[in-house]
Amino acid sequence: MSAPAQGSHEVSVESGGLPAITDGFHLVIEALKLNGIKTIYCVPGIPITDLGRLAQAEGMRVISFRHEQHAGHAAAITGYLTQRPGICLTVSAPGFLNGLTALANATTNCFPMILISGSSEREIVDLQQGDYEEMDQLAIAKPLCKAAFRVLHAEDIGIGIARSVRAACSGRPGGVYLDLPAKLLAQTLDAEEGSRSLVQVIDPAPRQIPAADAVNRAVEVLKSARRPLIILGKGAAYAQADDDIRALVEATGFPYLPMSMAKGILPDTHPQSAGAARSLVLKESDVVMMVGARLNWLLSHGKGKAWGNARKQFVQIDIEPKEMDSNVEIAAPVIGDIGSCVRALHDALGSDWRPQITEWIGTVNSKKETNLDRMAPRLQNNNVPMDFHGALGVLRTIVRNRPEAILVNEGANTLDFARSIIDMYQPRKRLDVGTWGVMGIGMGFAVAAAIETGNPVLAVEGDSAFGFSGMEIETICRYNLPVCVVVFNNNGIYRGTDVNPSGGDDVATTVFVKDARYDRMMEAFGGVGIYATTPDELSRAVNKAMDSGRPTLVNAVIDEKAGTESGRIGNLNPQSAVSRK
Ligand code: ADP
Ligand code: MG
Repeated sequence: MSAPAQGSHEVSVESGGLPAITDGFHLVIEALKLNGIKTIYCVPGIPITDLGRLAQAEGMRVISFRHEQHAGHAAAITGYLTQRPGICLTVSAPGFLNGLTALANATTNCFPMILISGSSEREIVDLQQGDYEEMDQLAIAKPLCKAAFRVLHAEDIGIGIARSVRAACSGRPGGVYLDLPAKLLAQTLDAEEGSRSLVQVIDPAPRQIPAADAVNRAVEVLKSARRPLIILGKGAAYAQADDDIRALVEATGFPYLPMSMAKGILPDTHPQSAGAARSLVLKESDVVMMVGARLNWLLSHGKGKAWGNARKQFVQIDIEPKEMDSNVEIAAPVIGDIGSCVRALHDALGSDWRPQITEWIGTVNSKKETNLDRMAPRLQNNNVPMDFHGALGVLRTIVRNRPEAILVNEGANTLDFARSIIDMYQPRKRLDVGTWGVMGIGMGFAVAAAIETGNPVLAVEGDSAFGFSGMEIETICRYNLPVCVVVFNNNGIYRGTDVNPSGGDDVATTVFVKDARYDRMMEAFGGVGIYATTPDELSRAVNKAMDSGRPTLVNAVIDEKAGTESGRIGNLNPQSAVSRK
């Protein structure tokens, strides 16, 4: 038996006088570990059950979920939080399909993840001879991710994982699919040859330095601004260039708007934050600098009523050149990684330059004050049943006192109100439905946030949103994670008061069981369940949960009349010819 060659990567070795061999299972695990991956999110089953077992035996953290979609969301948000691809491991066909929503969502949101699925035998799948869970998974995954690979020979596992890691992280991050047919995992290989076949990805997300002329062009535009605005997106949060971003924003003195998941790169209480004057700054600005944010539907595509009539010039920093001019003309595209771009712009602005924006700042600040003054009393109301403002006023205070807590947020009204009411103070602490507005991220994000950061997690969920991933509270209890779920329970989707228009016995399509006891679901798995009907009760319950670190679900009873159709995006509903009541 020969020892692994010097400088080669350690692969488990069987002894007993025979030549040391390894297999596909061990090579996958060693390849992941070699690339800094410590956690796998999965649902076990054929053919990957042993892969999960062996990974655990080899010291990886393997977190089992109840449904692949949530394991997938956990992997995706791991990528966002750590800049290393999160790994989701699923069984073939149905498990793979369940994971696909998360893979597509990760790609849309620019989160690096790798969906690894076991698959059935190629020979049978390709001849469509009817294998167990037969499906051409690679072909199906392709249009939904950044890259898709299949490995057929054990000696290619190292390269397969390396390509997946690099594809997920480099340039614009995204989802990658890696197909591992069942037979591959059991293939054996000489251990030494196996260890030589592994590849450690050097510099998986290389810096990309912006061109000097592009930087100078952007500086010209920025210096011409009289009513400037900076928009920070989740690409800026992902980049982990927090100090450089803050330095540039403060050097310009420009008002800035954080997109939802960019809240906290600078604290929402920063004097330059224009969050409370959003409509005004979008409409009236003359120069807008986008930093890791896209001009998609969330920003009304950069045109139309929301953006007013004033002529605007856009500067856009992004790693993806194709993003430029996607919706409107970009006067100054700056292509590169955010850290490098922001530093280059800061240098090129120079230390002598002073922006001429006193009047603009005055206008923005007075609008902010008016709006904040109007909001303040509503957040302190003690109405019972609670409305969104009363309940969120409480959670806002809790997050202010616990800025390191990670806030997960989904729903319709629960999302819209929480986004504007709960201030964030630290980067990458707000995780939500992102670019698609997808429901169902809640418990998957909460699990991964707790595991990857060790910080307490507060998941603020509409009752409808919670339903998509609610069973994963068993997962939260099983791993005893410091997650406090608050369900805003208003008995339905949007609200609980709709009636069946036909007058028939079925309840309306948007209505749930009245006064459902979500808190008891948590108790069923050994967690803490609390039923809260007043802002005081809610405050006590959440503080207690966050202090104890125990899995807790607070059922917050919200007035079923509170809430509007589709939250703030009711305009996206096609109008029915029959008028709505
Ligand atoms: P938001 O929804 O917050 O507006 P988006 O997801 O629409 O943010 O936009 C994020 C943008 O950030 C994407 O266009 C993506 O290409 C870009 N991006 C992601 N990571 C980086 C990075 N490290 N450097 C530069 N741009 C990045
Ligand atoms: Mg509801």
